[in-house]
Amino acid sequence: MQKTIAVLAVQGAFAEHESRLRSLGCAVVELRQLTDLQQSFDGLVLPGGESTTQAKLLHDLGMLEPLRQRIQGGLPVLGTCAGLILLAESVQSASDGRNPISDLLMPILGFATLPVTVVRNGYGRQLGSFTATAPLHVKHSEGDGTPSIPLTFIRAPRITATGEGVETLIALNGEPVAVRCKNQIGCCFHPELNDDNRLYELFLGLI
Ligand code: GLN
Repeated sequence: MQKTIAVLAVQGAFAEHESRLRSLGCAVVELRQLTDLQQSFDGLVLPGGESTTQAKLLHDLGMLEPLRQRIQGGLPVLGTCAGLILLAESVQSASDGRNPISDLLMPILGFATLPVTVVRNGYGRQLGSFTATAPLHVKHSEGDGTPSIPLTFIRAPRITATGEGVETLIALNGEPVAVRCKNQIGCCFHPELNDDNRLYELFLGLI
């Protein structure tokens, strides 16, 4: 059965996720307004972008609470970069040299469903954008034997603490950069910008 994935399309890098999901055989629906939630979908992708803007739009459009309930009810979700920030239970902010102070002081009122603490722009100005590679560790799999995944970080959040039930899928220099907790996968980098499908396959496997 073809899987239908909803992609939050209010701001940010949603188009890249959509084409990747289509190339993996999924149908895609865009979530731009509350009525879009009436469509049926099996999973949700939260793209990178600007978490403050996305959180505000989700709230103003009335989509925050219904989507939060769906996620808490077990809807598989993949949150990338700003999407991870929306999922995180606790969010702290650091400057990337671009945000105004008001933006840094504004709390991010996202879904807060994933028991991790993230620091926005936590890799600092110098390391604002960088690429790396690291292996994917998945329980009951070969793990180390599999080739590394290319990782593209763009003013990325840093995961500074993980709560109970959070499994590290990918670590870089000993720090988690992709995590899973039950139906939720969050990553600091942009999987849509590299041609490795393994994180998407893991997400689609949750459905
Ligand atoms: N720095 C952005 C934020 O704090 C996230 C960047 C991204 O999604 N690439 O919202």
